[in-house]
Amino acid sequence: MAKVFLLLGGNLGNKKVIFNQALALLEEAVGKIEQQSAIYETEPWGFESEDLFWNQVVVLETRLDADSLLQETQQIEYQLGRVRHGAQYSSRLIDLDILFYDQLILNQPRLEIPHPRMGERRFVLEPLAEIAPDFIHPASKKTIAQLLAECTDQLAVKKLDA
Ligand code: ADP
Ligand code: MG
Repeated sequence: MAKVFLLLGGNLGNKKVIFNQALALLEEAVGKIEQQSAIYETEPWGFESEDLFWNQVVVLETRLDADSLLQETQQIEYQLGRVRHGAQYSSRLIDLDILFYDQLILNQPRLEIPHPRMGERRFVLEPLAEIAPDFIHPASKKTIAQLLAECTDQLAVKKLDA
């Protein structure tokens, strides 16, 4: 069994319903959820939008290899991500990113693990540090707490009450 860290993100639609559905589908398709952070409300990173994001980190135990894990998470994004407006589909409502897969390091165009941009994103590091401050990043060998302390991202990340 592998221990994997996933980041949920979304800023459209009924985020509470969508996040709950995503967690249920992950348990079905990927494995048991061992840990989950609080939900964090975060400012959009890299673009302007009125709609604040929700982010949450979950830890699962899975029998899937890394490629199959990506397939399953993309399948869930696809399943949840399209709401009918008349005959048309709108954009994706949930983003599922693989942060860590045990201590695996993978550098493929389709799949990079650890997720390459987590160090510059407070919305990843804050929820991650809540549940796994001592986890060691397999490439930099730094703990999550260290990465968070060094992060210069200024965008607001606010923990929501459970
Ligand atoms: P973003 O997550 O940057 O908003 P997407 O969710 O559309 O963008 O992902 C774009 C591509 O990133 C996916 O098709 C996937 O193949 C690739 N990818 C590379 N590494 C990862 C990872 N660790 N987790 C999720 N997707 C990844
Ligand atoms: Mg993604």
